Amino acid sequence: EEEKSLNFIEEIIEEDLRNGKNDGRVLTRFPPEPNGYLHIGHAKSICLNFSLAQKYNGKTNLRFDDTNPVTEDVEYVDSIKKDIQWLGFQWAEELYTSDYFDTLYEYAKQLIKHDLAYVDDSNSEEIAASKGTPTKPGVPTVYRSRSIEENLQLFEDMRAGKYKDGEKVLRAKIDLASPNMHMRDPILYRIKHADHHRTGDKWPIYPMYDFAHGQSDSIEKITHSVCTLEFIPHRPLYDWLIDRLEIFPSKQYEFARLNLSYTVMSKRKLLQLVNEKLVDSWDDPRMPTISGLRRRGYTPESIRNFCERIGIQKRENMIDVSLLEFCIREDLNKTAWRRMAVLDPIKLVITNYPEGQVEELEGENNPEVEGGEGNRMIPFSKELWIEREDFMEDAPKKFFRLGPGLSVRLKHGYIVTCTDFKKDEQGNVTEVYCEYAPNSKSGEDTSGIKVKGTIHWVSVAHAKEAEVRLYDRLFQDENPAAAEDFKASINPDSLQIIEKAYIEPDLANAEVGKGYQFIRLGYFTLDSKHTTADKLVFNRTVTLKDSWAK
Ligand code: ATP
Ligand code: MG
Ligand code: MG
Repeated sequence: EEEKSLNFIEEIIEEDLRNGKNDGRVLTRFPPEPNGYLHIGHAKSICLNFSLAQKYNGKTNLRFDDTNPVTEDVEYVDSIKKDIQWLGFQWAEELYTSDYFDTLYEYAKQLIKHDLAYVDDSNSEEIAASKGTPTKPGVPTVYRSRSIEENLQLFEDMRAGKYKDGEKVLRAKIDLASPNMHMRDPILYRIKHADHHRTGDKWPIYPMYDFAHGQSDSIEKITHSVCTLEFIPHRPLYDWLIDRLEIFPSKQYEFARLNLSYTVMSKRKLLQLVNEKLVDSWDDPRMPTISGLRRRGYTPESIRNFCERIGIQKRENMIDVSLLEFCIREDLNKTAWRRMAVLDPIKLVITNYPEGQVEELEGENNPEVEGGEGNRMIPFSKELWIEREDFMEDAPKKFFRLGPGLSVRLKHGYIVTCTDFKKDEQGNVTEVYCEYAPNSKSGEDTSGIKVKGTIHWVSVAHAKEAEVRLYDRLFQDENPAAAEDFKASINPDSLQIIEKAYIEPDLANAEVGKGYQFIRLGYFTLDSKHTTADKLVFNRTVTLKDSWAK
């Protein structure tokens, strides 16, 4: 097997292992904030963190970064756990930043005692002003020179709930002239009287991301803390805090976040789509969420392969969504069971086929594997549904389907030749008449007739009905997030509902989570939300055609 080259984080880990760093231990973490459902970008981070640990005999923690009580919820916690497991990963420990609130509070007091943090009464504009601009150093507020004792007392009072939201903050005392704006006395704690989904009303103060994240990494003794590029300027602060607190030296490494064409990938924007009912939920099959992709019919393997294929980079880039589609096609081509369904039906009558006769034809479930994973029986009779577009009254030369005088093979069945057709008053074709060659049955054809086309069909008397949902891109703009209003390019035709399609009877046994290839139409899966005891609903996962590889 071909040796795969290492990505830059693997190189760092192997170097660390060679140097005996961290006693040869590799511990990564996936740190979602429970303020939304996971999306395909998170999948990239999940695959990276978990596969690094797997590769180097390490472990991965799941840590909920729950420091913003107002936007967080247990609904999100539950969905995140479900999605990670569905992707095929199991965390070593389930942890919460909120479990460290006591420790973080002690760390903050330690900084105050070393004169490395102070309570500032300025409002947010004053604090912003005190930081200066990238070209102009900041100016200390009058509070910067408070005594250690006063700071300790004020911080304890903040914690005791003596002040209102926004009245005071705790700031690190670093360097107001630092070329790195994040080092200009960043805020460590703010006052927020809000109910937290785990700690209730215990805390009126909450740590900021920069104070919570690195310290949580350190508490857990994370060895390689992987995050996205926008955190590069936060790294000096990450290191400064760990260094001043003299705690376990976790290290932060950055890779480029996943950007996917024709979609948005920020939880805030996705939440807007849900709240404004532009999609029906977080798991709408058009959403780039893990739950949406699952409902759409994506498999965990296809998502893992996608993440593997795109690899990790140190520069921002945009991945074409058709690569994701290529990955699910590749997977379903190997695994999906083949079935027949007619989405836009017209009737085909085989005039020389005996009235009332039914034949049970055999069709392989999966021609891609040896043995075909068994057969299903497909009833065949005198009247069949075929696709409207498989018949043309005035067929051009290369139309290898049906038209007056033209012949095709009916998949798994016989060769038929069109003799006539009927139209309604509006001129729409309603019925097509054919004669079949009785000695042309698939697998035992002695007719000698050569045909170029094969079409799918469903027996009228045996067909089941189903609703079929076809999807298109949710956005028409390649990079909707870059537009002033990302919702401006929403595709009004992203969902097409076919209320009555005809499906072969065996599809009544379709299972949620399994992919089916509707021959010539694409890959489909049973919709887990809208399907009921008496109504089948299928989602098209992806079309058959591979437009990406060309
Ligand atoms: P969003 O911008 O969608 O709200 P986030 O970074 O705020 O994302 P978190 O819940 O904090 O969401 O993300 C958890 C982890 O997933 C973080 O380590 C983050 O870097 C990573 N992550 C988020 N979005 C992407 C992405 N598009 N590509 C790769 N990793 C991502
Ligand atoms: Mg985040
Ligand atoms: Mg965010």
